[in-house]
Amino acid sequence: MMPESDSPREECGIVGVYGVDAPSHLIYQGLFSLQHRGQEAAGIVVADGTNVSSSKGQGLVNEVFSQKSLCNLNGHFGIGHVRYSTTGSKRIQNVQPLVVECVDGIWALAHNGNLVNAAEIRSMYQEAGAIFQTSTDSEVLMHLLADPMFRSRPGRVARALAELDGAFAFVIMTKNCLIAARDRRGFKPLVMGKIGAGYVFASETCGLVQMGAEYVRDVEPGEMITVDETGMRSTTFAEPAETLAQCVFEMVYFARPDSRIFGKNVHEVRLEYGKLLSQEHPVEADIVVAVPDSGNSAALGYAHGSGIPFDFGFIRNHYVGRTFIMPEMSDRQKGVDMKLAVLPEVVKGKRVVMVDDSIVRGTTSAKRVMRLKEAGATEVHVRISCPPTAHACFYGIDFPTREELIAGTKTVEEIREFLGADTLGYLSVKGLLSPFGNPDDFCTACFTGEYPTDVSSMKGKKALESGVHELELDV
Ligand code: SF4
Repeated sequence: MMPESDSPREECGIVGVYGVDAPSHLIYQGLFSLQHRGQEAAGIVVADGTNVSSSKGQGLVNEVFSQKSLCNLNGHFGIGHVRYSTTGSKRIQNVQPLVVECVDGIWALAHNGNLVNAAEIRSMYQEAGAIFQTSTDSEVLMHLLADPMFRSRPGRVARALAELDGAFAFVIMTKNCLIAARDRRGFKPLVMGKIGAGYVFASETCGLVQMGAEYVRDVEPGEMITVDETGMRSTTFAEPAETLAQCVFEMVYFARPDSRIFGKNVHEVRLEYGKLLSQEHPVEADIVVAVPDSGNSAALGYAHGSGIPFDFGFIRNHYVGRTFIMPEMSDRQKGVDMKLAVLPEVVKGKRVVMVDDSIVRGTTSAKRVMRLKEAGATEVHVRISCPPTAHACFYGIDFPTREELIAGTKTVEEIREFLGADTLGYLSVKGLLSPFGNPDDFCTACFTGEYPTDVSSMKGKKALESGVHELELDV
């Protein structure tokens, strides 16, 4: 995935398993394959019907867990989470799965997405005297579950989930059951698989493959699937929205190319984006190079579509830590320098098409154009496999503010000038949606500014942007 400061930050990845041997090891494998969705913290909670045990910490999956810590988590089901957070919210309390003890036992949950009405619900409970342990939006679901209004009535979890607005994929567990749920607009992907008689849930199908599970189907928007010793049951906690809002940015950038989400293989969609880009923005050039890794598939598609040969203009050092873990811009910029090297032998004397998945602030793309030219490229034509990213996301993706987004304040020509590129072309919104038979069922708000939910109360409030962000607390 695109690793620099000039990229949107990932969201989170979740896993749930039931009826399997060594669930902690299986969840570990699933989280490992979802590492691209969050690199700052990870956690696993496991239960055996009586006891619940957990292990979590900050860092990559293979740094947080050891063989010993996994072996200490005993049971036959559990959930896991990988998380990205902003600098300000690196609190251990925020690391998921969240685990609380209610009057009727232990509950744990892991969340991907952002609840747009979390502040409202939180404030309602705080006014009534509730104490929150974290600064995440996800915790409001715990309070809803513990609320006597919901606790004392049938369909408690479904009723609590129905109170939430925004983007969510949840895996929730008690000491004897596992629940997976997806919001009614289907913003976030969540898939279900099987291993023998056991059930497995993951944010992406690459997680299922890593765990050795067979894909069964997507968890449907508005659906809640419960698995316990009596088997698997599906219920609807909310009617699916007439028009869904599946996050198209998953296809552009977030999801792993080998995953199949929203009914499509991600690599194939990105190839298609590259081909469409070559039709929308053709150029005479000698080679097509990708900005690795997330630009790879689209660059290949551009090469296929244009007939211009693909070559490796950049080589990525995979052993450098992901730059956004480092908080200061200067450190991040150093990280970028260490991470991508230009191959002068490939680009010298050539007219180069540089294909990338997106431009956020523009600073990193400008550096790359400069490096290609320093290495002897005679022309650099930048092609981006999505439309200009000009608006904030309120559904769990950490884009900078509109003012910081280069497309939020500059025209395409001004951006081209800023990058120092000879030409610049973005994929159109029509092109972005064209691989899908149901184009209306996708969210494109960060490109179009047309939000699928009411976000008027959130504009300008960084605090509400994501389940992994710090809420602003009055003291
Ligand atoms: S605003 Fe963009 S990143 Fe956010 S959910 Fe919509 S498409 Fe995805």
